[in-house]
Amino acid sequence: MKIHEYQAKQILAKYGVPVPKGNVAFSLDEALMVAQDLKSEVYVVKAQIHAGGRGKGGGVKVSKGLEALRKNAENILGMQLVTHQTGPSGQKVKQLLIEEGIDISKELYCSVLVDRGKQRIVILASTEGGMDIEEVAANTPEKIKKIFVDPSVGLRPYQANELAFGLKIHETNPKLIRSAVSVFMALYKTFVGEDCSLVEINPLVLTGDGCVVALDAKLTLDDNALYRHRGNMSLRDRDEEDPLELEASEAGLNYIKLDGNIGCMVNGAGLAMGTMDIIKTYGGEPANFLDVGGGAKQETVEKAFRIITLDPNVKCILINIFGGIVRCDMVASGVIAAFKNVNLQIPVVIRLEGTNSEEAHKIVRESGLRESLQMADGIQQAAQKAVSAAN
Ligand code: GDP
Ligand code: MN
Repeated sequence: MKIHEYQAKQILAKYGVPVPKGNVAFSLDEALMVAQDLKSEVYVVKAQIHAGGRGKGGGVKVSKGLEALRKNAENILGMQLVTHQTGPSGQKVKQLLIEEGIDISKELYCSVLVDRGKQRIVILASTEGGMDIEEVAANTPEKIKKIFVDPSVGLRPYQANELAFGLKIHETNPKLIRSAVSVFMALYKTFVGEDCSLVEINPLVLTGDGCVVALDAKLTLDDNALYRHRGNMSLRDRDEEDPLELEASEAGLNYIKLDGNIGCMVNGAGLAMGTMDIIKTYGGEPANFLDVGGGAKQETVEKAFRIITLDPNVKCILINIFGGIVRCDMVASGVIAAFKNVNLQIPVVIRLEGTNSEEAHKIVRESGLRESLQMADGIQQAAQKAVSAAN
């Protein structure tokens, strides 16, 4: 689950990461009130959307004085902010973060995430803060420092020290090494303590008056661990989520929208991944990842049909169910009923293997829907049929 910058900063502050003074505002009046409380000469108005690159898109404005702040807040609130992460239609700005302006002497980059290959938590840091880190990684990978942390031991101060010196923080101000070490330790504690999948600070700044401050903050919380952090559940902003994915998650389906034209309905996450791979092997493109779970009952299938076909790119649906505990004949009857109920207009290819698969084939054959419901023998044939139906 992604959260807003202002929420991330509140969490980081609890763990001792210095952040600029500021507050969220949902209206122009609130923005002015927050600014008056801050009593600063320079303010920063920041659009709160779940996407990065806001600065370049005009969603972050440094404002000198209350009048400038008012103008910028008025312009940004309600705007359709387009960044490289929002897609061309952008995202509507409904909330602002109003902060005191910070005197920046250096912008750094720092993030904490899991390196699956190494089975370690990794801290990435770079002197190239404020920039697109993907670009730094592609063009000058030597500028990204990495510290791998054994989770059973945790981040050791000597490692944080090594990182601080690696970023040449002492060249800006030797006194900042200690503050930087404490920030790295606190970022690591936040990552573990809140069960994050990402903590990213870009930029982490060294200020003119000798502080290390998280100027921006992006925090992603691991959905699977949310039950351990009841308080974090209320940080969810449904307006920022893909409406199809939201509807799916409410129906208990595990759905991720993709760009292709073959809708997938599969039981089990591993089988769903395998199904997408084999579609690609035969020259097709999956339109989604969808794990309907173990049951694959008629209601679930119906809901899944509805969600898959709300995506206008979908030209064909491939159902791949392995009947272990679930019986294939039950699935087949469910699919036929659901197909009729939602009045599906696109072809469906089904591969049903496992318990009672022969009965399932018979049910489909006798359904009178053989034109639009094609049974496949084996996953290869299923993928081939789906690819040719979609084209
Ligand atoms: P992003 O573009 O969505 O990543 O938004 P950021 O929060 O990173 O802001 C973009 C840029 O705005 C930063 O890299 C800074 O250069 C600048 N910026 C943000 N806050 C301040 C501030 O308080 N003072 C100054 N001088 N610049 C700021
Ligand atoms: Mn940023």
